[in-house]
Amino acid sequence: MNYVIGADIGTTSTKAVLYDQTGTVLEYANVGYPLYQTEPDMAEQDVEEIFEAVVDALTQVTRRAAIDPKDIKGVSFSAAMHSLIVLDEEKKPLTRSITWADNRAAKYSEQLKASGLGQKIYEKTGTPIHPMAPLSKIIWLRTEKPELFAQARYFIGIKEYVLYKLFGELKIDQSIASATGLFNIFTLDWEPEALKVAGITAAQLPEVVSTSYQFHGLKHAYAEVTGLPEEIAFVIGASDGVLSNLGVNAVEEGVLALTIGTSGAIRQVVNQPATDPKGRLFCYVLAEDRWVIGGPVNNGGIVFRWVRDQLFTPEKETAAQMKVDSYDLLTNMAEKIPAGSDGLIFLPYLGGERAPLWDANARGTFFGLNRSHTRAHMLRAALEGIVFNLYTVLLALEEVTGSPKSIQATGGFARSSLWRQMLADIFEREVTIPESFESSCLGAAVLGMKSLGLIDDLTAVKEMVGVTKTHQPNEENYAAYRDLLPIFIRLSRTLSQEYKAIAEYQRNH
Ligand code: ADP
Repeated sequence: MNYVIGADIGTTSTKAVLYDQTGTVLEYANVGYPLYQTEPDMAEQDVEEIFEAVVDALTQVTRRAAIDPKDIKGVSFSAAMHSLIVLDEEKKPLTRSITWADNRAAKYSEQLKASGLGQKIYEKTGTPIHPMAPLSKIIWLRTEKPELFAQARYFIGIKEYVLYKLFGELKIDQSIASATGLFNIFTLDWEPEALKVAGITAAQLPEVVSTSYQFHGLKHAYAEVTGLPEEIAFVIGASDGVLSNLGVNAVEEGVLALTIGTSGAIRQVVNQPATDPKGRLFCYVLAEDRWVIGGPVNNGGIVFRWVRDQLFTPEKETAAQMKVDSYDLLTNMAEKIPAGSDGLIFLPYLGGERAPLWDANARGTFFGLNRSHTRAHMLRAALEGIVFNLYTVLLALEEVTGSPKSIQATGGFARSSLWRQMLADIFEREVTIPESFESSCLGAAVLGMKSLGLIDDLTAVKEMVGVTKTHQPNEENYAAYRDLLPIFIRLSRTLSQEYKAIAEYQRNH
């Protein structure tokens, strides 16, 4: 039997999973690290802490497994997108890893958007113009930290750093590159216009390779520590988002991956790159012939958490005393309210919104309240509002990719049968809950297996991912949602002027 390790360098931890070639999990390790936030909008991580976590996670799964390490044919990587590390001439870091959650470049992405140049660049790079993107961060560094910028020789991300330390080669895969805002997803090369705006040259970026690129010649010291054989291949892999699509078996055309955890996203694999004339969607590389188009939302399960904590404190305490899950207790209450919450609509924009509005000023709204509405209505309306919003992202996606046939749904929300059924009803499509554990690690492992010749095509993942539950749309429910959705959509657009006014008020008081 052959084995492959899928490793995911995430924002809170690095996970490593050892799989056999049928996708069965043998070992799992998770090693965490802190996020540094010592000034407003900052979100950085220490590169050495992450490097050590990667080595530790690989060591744990390798040493714990009751197999001959020589049978581990490869390690393949996933990583969080949009990280930026500045290196000097000697390739020594001058900064920590500035993560996707860092917002200090907001002013520069806003300027880029307002000038119209942002949309032009987005249409080539597929990366929404946003402070998360290395493009915005480099403009911020150049303008606000000119001394650092003058010393900067290379601009790289966390995965590039880790692999550079293990192999001495500075390479970036097309997938991570495609999330920098500097890379043309059509030509699969750095985009000159974006480089010009950033004020850097391609020589300051790592060499771009395909997501199946293999590193050979693991440094002796790391082979010794981890227990991995020196002749093992490391496959560069891709980004966590696109690999999670692969890992939940949403790789065939027409299959939508939807996730609602703390935040949320919908994504779909396509065979041609495409961007959105309205700039609402991302398009990132998965492999040389596959791209992933989708939209991320800020307001997922975090909104449910807010409703629980602010409106249902007594129930939260009861749940704790009864030792039951507070979310289960609340979804049982919401289930007693009819679909459509008797005409109460909730716009879930508590944390501003990325797709589809891309408006940091957006704010939440209950609309349609009357005296017969109860707290339980507010609760159900909030759960519906989160799904309505994701549905509006699907409407944007459909303009570019056409209509999906089915949905693979994952994330904390999928623990609730009410919420899963709500998704099937609002989207009016079959919803499947895949049996997926650490989907980005599995996606990385599958990409690695393809690179190593252990499988012929990425669709082999189909045999590795089980199904736990399916839901069919219920006609009675979707009739209510069909009536309310147009109101939801008009409201969220009509309020855009007022979002700005109220956000300004909140900032100044
Ligand atoms: P993360 O995005 O941080 O990985 P999860 O995928 O665990 O988080 O999702 C956390 C969210 O999932 C919670 O905020 C909550 O909204 C939702 N959630 C968790 N458990 C349940 C449940 N039993 N029923 C409904 N929603 C749940």
